[in-house]
Amino acid sequence: MQTVYLDNNATTQPAPQVVAAMTDVLNEWWGNPSSGHRLGQAARSKVELARASVARLIGVRDRQVVFTSGGTEANNLALSGVLKASLEKAGASPRPLVISTDVEHPSIGEPIEHLGQRGGRVVTLPVDGNGLVDPKDLVAALESGACNGRLALVSIQWANNETGVIQPIGDLVAACRRHTEACGECRVVFHTDATQAVGKVVVDAVASGVDLLSLSGHKFHGPKGVGSLYVKPGTRLRRQTLGGHQEHDRRGGTENVPSIVGLGVAADLAIRFLGDARAVERQTALRNRLERGISTALPGTVVHASGAKRLWNTSNLGFTGIEAEAVLLALSEKGVCASAGSACSSGSLDPSPVLLAMGIPEAVAHGSTRFSLSRDTGDEQIDRALDVVPEVVRHLERTLPLGPAS
Ligand code: PMP
Repeated sequence: MQTVYLDNNATTQPAPQVVAAMTDVLNEWWGNPSSGHRLGQAARSKVELARASVARLIGVRDRQVVFTSGGTEANNLALSGVLKASLEKAGASPRPLVISTDVEHPSIGEPIEHLGQRGGRVVTLPVDGNGLVDPKDLVAALESGACNGRLALVSIQWANNETGVIQPIGDLVAACRRHTEACGECRVVFHTDATQAVGKVVVDAVASGVDLLSLSGHKFHGPKGVGSLYVKPGTRLRRQTLGGHQEHDRRGGTENVPSIVGLGVAADLAIRFLGDARAVERQTALRNRLERGISTALPGTVVHASGAKRLWNTSNLGFTGIEAEAVLLALSEKGVCASAGSACSSGSLDPSPVLLAMGIPEAVAHGSTRFSLSRDTGDEQIDRALDVVPEVVRHLERTLPLGPAS
């Protein structure tokens, strides 16, 4: 049976060039980059070449890129590293204010929740029906708790993993800057989780004005278990892993050279893809064809966040009155891989908190299914999905409708 993989926001297939480069490192360049001898220095130069590639992809200088074990660690390092540095400087008080949103990935939401439990002040911004944060709400949050000289750590994602919604990061950063200039008391550090955006859309960290930015290799055809955090010069950040001084003292531990090299190759390939406007247009048209085709065959379908700027690869569709887990199982039996909500929380039948935060009714959220394409998705895969999805949904509507209590 042909596999139609439409779950690229969960992970992407590593590019053949990535696999080849990593294999080469494992076979030939296995030295420790901290060793002074030839084998170590050969590994060091591979790591530094990869750093330059990642820096190019997000428009920053090499030295500003810290390698991590992925998006989750980059997010944890950003939040905990800034707060620890701030507490060291200011002592126990005043406690920093942490501002985030209702639609962040758990690797932001959970560390922030933990912080709140330990006495930190946390403000969670709402989103509108299209999943967008309003810069005015961000300024109001700053006014409510940061104008007394305390640090405000803001973390707002670049793009959402479930809906593909792209936040107006530049506008949000600009609103913070305008406010801090007028107020004179606020200090804001702005972090963005760009894990779903990097490699799919152009992400220029410097132009956006953010202080910290997380990315992850396996979301753009690199390996799993590797990512990075961009740290703008002047940002105070304490390392979280003690016992090693690698990564300019920002992340201890011997570098994962094969994966870092794979990430570098993935970054080079992403730069090439993003520079090819026709390829991006072609893939956008494929996603739009999938959305139109399903909505025409199933007129009750809700296209989530259709009024917002979205990643070209993501389509989150609400099928009212059925359970997304049943849709996914039936699709999988026919070779179509999709997902409901975030992969990390699947297995639970709770409707997606992201969709609920957007005000989507529970009955629609329960039946919402995410299809996410890659730059390699082709016409045949979309044709097959268009054959299978409406048939599966119609069958479930007849045989497994959700009861009124749901
Ligand atoms: N942030 C977002 C928005 C994500 O989608 C993911 C991956 N699901 C992560 C962070 C975590 O990245 P990683 O899998 O590399 O830890």
